[in-house]
Amino acid sequence: MSERVGFIGLGAMGAPMARNLLRAGHEVVAFTRNADVLAELAAEGAETGAGPADVAARTDVVVTMLPTSPVVAEVVAGPGGVLEGARPGSLVVDMSTIDPSVSRSLAATARERGVGMLDAPVSGGDVGARQGTLSIMVGGEPSDFERARPVFEALGKTIVHVGPHGAGQVVKACNQVVVGITYAAVSEALVLGSKAGVDPALILDVLSGGLAANRIMEVRRRNFLEHDFTPGFKIDLHHKDLTIALEAGGENGVPLPLTAAVQQMFRALRAHGRGDLDHSALLTLIEDMADHRIGSG
Ligand code: NAD
Repeated sequence: MSERVGFIGLGAMGAPMARNLLRAGHEVVAFTRNADVLAELAAEGAETGAGPADVAARTDVVVTMLPTSPVVAEVVAGPGGVLEGARPGSLVVDMSTIDPSVSRSLAATARERGVGMLDAPVSGGDVGARQGTLSIMVGGEPSDFERARPVFEALGKTIVHVGPHGAGQVVKACNQVVVGITYAAVSEALVLGSKAGVDPALILDVLSGGLAANRIMEVRRRNFLEHDFTPGFKIDLHHKDLTIALEAGGENGVPLPLTAAVQQMFRALRAHGRGDLDHSALLTLIEDMADHRIGSG
């Protein structure tokens, strides 16, 4: 018999993920702060919970998909949180991107109450969330990983247990380093080529056929060319993720000079009021520096 699944946090990622669980036949009890989104999910077959503790009391496995470390800590271990409603034997699967040290400490708190916990952040973006093709990197006990597998299989295609508590978040930080630096590289290339007089669409066409090919040029092609920066993945969140990566670099004695530069670029974009835009809007910072909008001749 499949386990009842709680789902907390129905944003750009959480809402389509919860829908995929419903589609796969799971019974879902959902909660988020936005009442309209919760009502939409209810119309599509989810039960709704009154809050995190209520969701946990009515389910076996609780998934959280929330923005930041403090929010996850509050929703899992704060007053009225998941651990208040969970029973010994419950499992909490945090799929948010947060600080690995917070994941480890929440797992220890959960364990004291007989509750299992996994950190299971994802990559693949809003597109992967909708299509059920996310990559899922999981830290925690192997037996909890196996227990959560049916949930993961409804959400993603590449599902890998990468190590103990916190290891999933470390791998996600590695992912965000590559993605952030790639956005910066593509942005610099587009502004250079365009200001030198070449059509940016042609630059993307030809680079996509060679060694410089990457998924970002493919999935964000239209966004770059049309300057449509509707998120997607917000600059605020990528700034948070690179801050986590730099922190992990500090803890492990690993210099991350390129990551630091891109984190500062995201910080500059936030200072310009662009934190709510998609991270492809990193392009606009390079455009500002060059005083050139790509495709403007
Ligand atoms: P989002 O801001 O769109 O959604 C966050 C959701 O959490 C919202 O529905 C909000 O109402 C809810 N929420 C916030 N505080 C809450 C609380 N106290 N109680 C209950 N609900 C609360 O964020 P998102 O883009 O869905 O990202 C969620 C997580 O996934 C983040 O950690 C992000 O870094 C990570 N992530 C996002 C993407 C992406 O492309 N958007 C990709 C991979 C990973």
